[in-house]
Amino acid sequence: MMNLATQLDELRSRFESALTEAGDERALEAVRVAYLGRSGEVTTVRRSIGALPPPERPAAGKTINDAVEAMEARLLAAAASLEHRAFEAELAQRIDVTFPSIPAPVGSIHPIRRIIEDVAGYFGRRGFAVVSGPEVEPDYYNFDALNIPSDHPAREGFDSFWLTDTLLLRPHTSPMQIRTMQEHRPPVAILAPGKCYRRDAVDARHLFQFHQVEGLLVAEDIHFGHLKGMLAGMCRELFGPEQQVRFRPSFFPFTEPSAEVDTTCPKCKGRSAECNMCGGSGWIELGGCGMVHPNVLREVGYDPEIYSGWAFGFGAERIALTRYEIDDVRRLVDSDPDFLEQLQ
Ligand SMILES: [Zn+2]
Repeated sequence: MMNLATQLDELRSRFESALTEAGDERALEAVRVAYLGRSGEVTTVRRSIGALPPPERPAAGKTINDAVEAMEARLLAAAASLEHRAFEAELAQRIDVTFPSIPAPVGSIHPIRRIIEDVAGYFGRRGFAVVSGPEVEPDYYNFDALNIPSDHPAREGFDSFWLTDTLLLRPHTSPMQIRTMQEHRPPVAILAPGKCYRRDAVDARHLFQFHQVEGLLVAEDIHFGHLKGMLAGMCRELFGPEQQVRFRPSFFPFTEPSAEVDTTCPKCKGRSAECNMCGGSGWIELGGCGMVHPNVLREVGYDPEIYSGWAFGFGAERIALTRYEIDDVRRLVDSDPDFLEQLQ
């Protein structure tokens, strides 16, 4: 019995030194296997019980079990202490906060969105409210209320996507003019940007889904001069301080008189006969505009004898083509980041 205790003491002393030397989890596991494993040292000691007289065996077994329990507790404590030391080491590590970081790839606003925000910003600072509305609209808002009755040939020109006999994807943002005027008494000053849809074959100048920015101002004594001043200011903000605007007579059912709006070619400033952006004309077409037709004012309950107003509608894609000097509108929707990030 004495012999066994000495033997265990000696074993535990070696076990303790092995624990102290074990520097990591793997070394600790090796110690466990060597002493407490199936073929470990403790098993060898346990086998020696068989050589003892039977009455001494239970006490010997208990002594060994107590020793094993104590060793297992020591093993757990050693593992916990190892973990703690590793954590402390991690905390003690120093990092060089002055080292330049690797920049994360960051997205940016799409050029079309930027154009819309710039135009909205310009008009917003001048008291215009930015409004948005449904992209699916009844023909009433798209046509009838805008002085385009069902037998009017202008309806054909829109090449719309009809969803039912009376419901369509809006081919312009003008329904928002009607919706706003029906809800508010004049004065009304809005900018209506948004997606529009027409059954155009996709090519370098056309998409079947595009964006319009449309403006409307209705109050007393509003005239074409106000429109020209506002659009000239907008073009100078979008393209540069030397921009001019000019009007060419045109026809739209919802305005009278109507005009096409051009602005100075920002690329050649009207000074190059070979300019590939304006074809040497010196002007870039922005879109249509005019004085709101009296029939449209009547339709929303405004008295055209008292109120007058103007409206314009430009394609955001067309402005983007001009501003960024792009030759193919499809590039704006290709989602090629390498291309788009050059347009900031
Ligand atoms: Zn030009």
